[in-house]
Amino acid sequence: MPKLAVLYDAGQAVLSTFDLDEVLQRILAIAHDFFHLNNVAILLLDKDARELRVRSQIGWDVGEDTICLGYHDGLTGASVAKKQPIYAPDVTKDPRYICCAQSTRSELAIPLMVRDEVVGVLDCQSDSIDRFDQETIELLTLFSTQASIALQNAHLYSLERKRARQLEAINTIAQQSTAVMDLEDLLARVCSVIQLAFQVSHVSLLLREESDLVMRAHQGTLTPCTPPGQRFPASQEPWSSVIATSGMVIDKDVSTIPEPRRLFYEAASRMSIPLISFGQTLGVLTLHSSEKNAFRESELQSLESVADICANSIQNAHYVERVKQLAYLDGLTGIFNRRFFELRIIEEIERARRYGTGMAVIMADIDQFKRLNDEFGHLLGDEVLRQVSSLFHQQLRRLDVVCRYGGEEFAILLTQTNAEQAMAIGEKLRRMVASHQFPGVPRTVTISAGVAVFSTHGTLRDELIRAADNGLYAAKQAGRNRVCLASLARAATSIGS
Ligand code: GH3
Ligand code: MG
Ligand code: MG
Repeated sequence: MPKLAVLYDAGQAVLSTFDLDEVLQRILAIAHDFFHLNNVAILLLDKDARELRVRSQIGWDVGEDTICLGYHDGLTGASVAKKQPIYAPDVTKDPRYICCAQSTRSELAIPLMVRDEVVGVLDCQSDSIDRFDQETIELLTLFSTQASIALQNAHLYSLERKRARQLEAINTIAQQSTAVMDLEDLLARVCSVIQLAFQVSHVSLLLREESDLVMRAHQGTLTPCTPPGQRFPASQEPWSSVIATSGMVIDKDVSTIPEPRRLFYEAASRMSIPLISFGQTLGVLTLHSSEKNAFRESELQSLESVADICANSIQNAHYVERVKQLAYLDGLTGIFNRRFFELRIIEEIERARRYGTGMAVIMADIDQFKRLNDEFGHLLGDEVLRQVSSLFHQQLRRLDVVCRYGGEEFAILLTQTNAEQAMAIGEKLRRMVASHQFPGVPRTVTISAGVAVFSTHGTLRDELIRAADNGLYAAKQAGRNRVCLASLARAATSIGS
């Protein structure tokens, strides 16, 4: 009867909580008290590390729970290898015995099995020689199955929690996607949420731009092989398969992929899921793991839900971006407008202040434009404005910002540029326009420009704009078709014709 009682108690312990450590402690306490054992421990098997590690123990000195044995060492290791209980009635006579407690005289190691697999060992040690008779061994073996059940439950419970976490992530992304309209911000947040919920090494979002996929956001612990914003041809694997099949692709081992096609140095496996909205593949959600073969098809459903929400949010954010852009574009010329210039100049000033990189402003104005309108008509005037905008756009770097400030006046922001460089660029633009043959205009069209530089001519937006305007005014005063630097403006020092 007491035998049944001990099994019943162990069963109750397993049912009492989902907390694995608590269950194991209760089971060990029952074994310790009922069988009068000195030391009892549960060791878990780490197959990858080929180790048995103490997870829970009673009777050993404090600190013993850091004990870790080779998975075939000692009596515990032997029970793993044989998948059956191993008993040493006198440990001094058993060469397999590894001493963990000086007083131990006999030891019984029982493998903990889940189905056909060993997951750990229940290790029982006694100060008495031959403490365990056959009946006790059988009873402890039956008893050990409760520990196995606890381990299995804990595993199922953690799977359940993982699933709950993933559902929560889907929910979070769905909420964010309506709250966050800025695309960059949204992509970064989505990566963080997925990485946390799916506990993978790295999450990246690549969006389609023409025939490329561009890495727009990533989050995780791996080291990127390429700089941010890297482009990958969509014709390259795995992207081409993802796009062609509109389905996910699992790569079990990416550790040998050569660097130009690699995303992260330590990546060992990868899962790629298409982002599809209204039948269009907008990009690819990619999960990387530092372990080989880390992804299962079973994860797919949750990830597809995430990918669907992502795709819709990206579509929304694209739309918002487009609307915003329209508000910052000049209707006649298609270049940015004054509103955009006034926002961007503040950002550029801040950057120049923080990194000491320098920046410059050019104010350029078409000379005698009123006369041009009078001579050739307003429509041709419009065309000249478009062509001047286009010439400026072609001549400047992608980082620079060209805006129509108003009428026939243009404002240009030059990033990481000093006075000398800005004057050279202004001069280049002036020459470009002066030598350009505008269709329908049988004479030269010229511009005048003023240049101001952070921080020589000002550190605030209005100071810089005013200084560049003064330069422009000086250029007009000096006879037009020339470029003047702001600080020298009053002396009307200029270069040009
Ligand atoms: P200055 O060399 O001193 O700059 O002389 P200007 O004639 O260019 O300067 P002013 O400010 O006297 O005249 C600017 C003209 O630009 C007047 C206006 O009709 C014309 N303009 C402004 N916006 C547009 C536009 O969108 N299209 C056309 N065709 N003309 C415009
Ligand atoms: Mg003018
Ligand atoms: Mg003007």
